[in-house]
Amino acid sequence: MKAELISVGTEILLGEITDTNAVKLGQFLAQKGIDVVNRQTVGDNKERIEEALEIATRRSDLIITIGGLGPTEDDLTKDAVADFVGDQLIFDQNTLDKITDYFEKSNIEITSNNKKQAEVFANGGTLANGIGLAAGSFIENNNHTYVVLPGPPSEFTPMVNGSFNQFLITRFNLNQQIKSKTLHFVGIGESLLADKLDDLINRQTNPTIALYFKDTDVTVRLTAKGTEEPEIDQLLNQTESDINKLVGEFYYSDEDEIDFPSFVTQELIKRELSITSAESLTGGLFQSTIVGVAGASNIFPGGYVTYSDASKHSLLGVSEATISDNTVVSGPVAKEMAIGAKNLMGTSIGVSFTGVAGPDGLEGHPAGEVWIGLALPNGDTVQNKYVFNGNRQKIRQRSVNKAFELIWR
Ligand code: ATP
Ligand code: MG
Repeated sequence: MKAELISVGTEILLGEITDTNAVKLGQFLAQKGIDVVNRQTVGDNKERIEEALEIATRRSDLIITIGGLGPTEDDLTKDAVADFVGDQLIFDQNTLDKITDYFEKSNIEITSNNKKQAEVFANGGTLANGIGLAAGSFIENNNHTYVVLPGPPSEFTPMVNGSFNQFLITRFNLNQQIKSKTLHFVGIGESLLADKLDDLINRQTNPTIALYFKDTDVTVRLTAKGTEEPEIDQLLNQTESDINKLVGEFYYSDEDEIDFPSFVTQELIKRELSITSAESLTGGLFQSTIVGVAGASNIFPGGYVTYSDASKHSLLGVSEATISDNTVVSGPVAKEMAIGAKNLMGTSIGVSFTGVAGPDGLEGHPAGEVWIGLALPNGDTVQNKYVFNGNRQKIRQRSVNKAFELIWR
């Protein structure tokens, strides 16, 4: 069976957004053993969508469109497919109820455009959208299968793994199941991790092992296939334990959607350890990251942004002599900042940042030199010097990421 993807959206053509959905779907279908032979991208234009369908129909069996299921004028995909295969659109009652309910609850008048999102092919079927309002749909025509999926990734991805996956299994008798597990690591670079896992990755076909790298996070994704769930779980667990034998010291979580700062913040919440920060070059980025996690108010009373030498002294009580004796980018200043913040806020932990975000150096310190201070619950302090690469934003972000690592260790 040959599959073809048609991404619909003028903003993709204009380069305003990246077609991550097609990438995801390509990976997904490959894992299912379905060959994707072509991909097209068309603007929000009915004629050109139909043209793309015609081309796809000539060379592919399974044709999947992405995007253009919304309520607005430029959402034309279902109309185009219906016209192309000679079908009508009807309302899917469940989706319609959901939409009506949504608008009633939001106290907004529902328009016919909104109802449009409940439309599905009259001679086809519905693919439920658990997140958004627009239903997906499929239809068979002349030995071809057409599937329409919504564009917003937050809806698209769950549907691919959910209703679309279910559809494929039933329609094409794919009784193989696929299950993935994500392992998160921190404090080890991607290349070193890849190196350590090299043998395992080469040896391993089920589950497959893929590495991803984002900020400080390295993610290992295991994907196992099988016909029975327990068998798949067994495969995943075995490989997970093989991996942890090699790099377990860097492992921190197997939650699907987690990043390291959120993980550490959640741990602090669980352990009831309150925290504050005194930030110079990071300008509140650490605090902002903490506050981005639900429940942060339980552990974060507030913090300080002390950019000038004077404010470090007047707000945090860093002694003027410490600054003049050591320069402001120094361990002793980081230490006094962390202690000052911790004492003033009465928290379990105080974190501090003083450094040079660049692009220019400061008082003999090069851009990227950063001191991070930590005042711990037992009164101990840690102050470490780092040299980060990158532009201002990268250096500030890397400082914050490193602080989370320090807190966790
Ligand atoms: P909506 O109800 O939001 O209109 P829709 O199904 O009509 O949903 P589109 O209008 O095509 O989808 O796209 C909505 C948004 O989803 C886009 O602005 C874009 O941010 C995102 N999006 C659409 N297509 C893709 C894609 N192929 N890859 C990644 N993101 C996409
Ligand atoms: Mg739209």
